[in-house]
Amino acid sequence: MEGKLAFEKPKFPSTLKKVFLCETCMSGEVELHVHLDGSIKAETILYFANKRGIKLLAETVEGLLQHVAYSKPMSFAEFLAKFDHYMPAIAGDREAVKRIAYEFVEMKAKEGVIYVEVRYSPHFLANSKVDPLPWEQEEGDLTPEEVVDLVNQGLREGERDFNIKARSILCCMRHRPNWSPEVVELCKKYQNDTVVAIDLAGNEMVSCKESSGHREAYEEAVRSGIHRTVHAGEIGPPSVVREAVEILKAERIGHGYHTTDDPDLYKELLEKNMHFELCPWSSYLTSACCSDFTKHPAIQFKNDKANYSLNTDDPLIFGSTLNKDYKVAKKYMGFTDEDFMQVNINAARSCFLPEKEKRELLNQLYEAYDMILSTEF
Ligand SMILES: [Zn+2]
Repeated sequence: MEGKLAFEKPKFPSTLKKVFLCETCMSGEVELHVHLDGSIKAETILYFANKRGIKLLAETVEGLLQHVAYSKPMSFAEFLAKFDHYMPAIAGDREAVKRIAYEFVEMKAKEGVIYVEVRYSPHFLANSKVDPLPWEQEEGDLTPEEVVDLVNQGLREGERDFNIKARSILCCMRHRPNWSPEVVELCKKYQNDTVVAIDLAGNEMVSCKESSGHREAYEEAVRSGIHRTVHAGEIGPPSVVREAVEILKAERIGHGYHTTDDPDLYKELLEKNMHFELCPWSSYLTSACCSDFTKHPAIQFKNDKANYSLNTDDPLIFGSTLNKDYKVAKKYMGFTDEDFMQVNINAARSCFLPEKEKRELLNQLYEAYDMILSTEF
């Protein structure tokens, strides 16, 4: 059975001829958890603020980054407030929306990423047919649907120019269940036209049980063959992870650190081979995890051979690239080059590409890592 073979453990040769994942020459990464609106270049924010006459807290890159980026842990609420400082410059502007998608692909190609799934809320970038209007914008004429079309154009042009593959995930927001029915409809309309999945982001303390909007959107996603991931167990308790898996039928968990607080749930998800999209540097800065990296849940995931990946989440705000997360994992969590290869193979296996493209991606990794391939591949 094809699907089964694709998930067999790879065989590592005893000596690796090529090691791509050293600190200086990273290449061949797969990134599954990164937000488009958390990955914008400061220069681009300033360009559009200037063009549109929108006043931000600063007028220089350094000044803006002082307000937007940070490097010492803050509360999750303080982290979320960072978006207020710059999203008004981008949201509601057609050129800006397309350009941030294009520049995102460029940024990831430079980091050595070969396949990325980038996520965003179409409603957060729109200024028409959104209730309520985000970022205290004036009503305009850019709808969530046109946002998706513009992001798709930017991603496709980026793929063409920078020679990597980029797909997108559309986010529902926990505090806006009224947006979710449209999010799943957009996923259906643009399925495999860069859009590969639905996500649920925002404050985990807002339960899905109380609002049917998210639950019904995820039920429709299941019916329509739309892949599903959910931010859960990042700052929230294991019960949010259980809810994501049992009610929303999540196939991957965004973050999921606090799953380990419930050993039964953790064991259950290990047995199910659930994929966890870990973001180590993000988890430090949002205070999702204890600030001592040597006690980070990623170490337990690694030791237990769980299915997980390493990701940046919001590189603009965290002042990071994927290299930062790898460095943290190497320095404080004992990750070896072989572990990094395994992380990327996990990510490729759990990505939301159609099966044929997933196999091509895996083959690309195996070649890059110079692994002994079994004939099935
Ligand atoms: Zn996230």
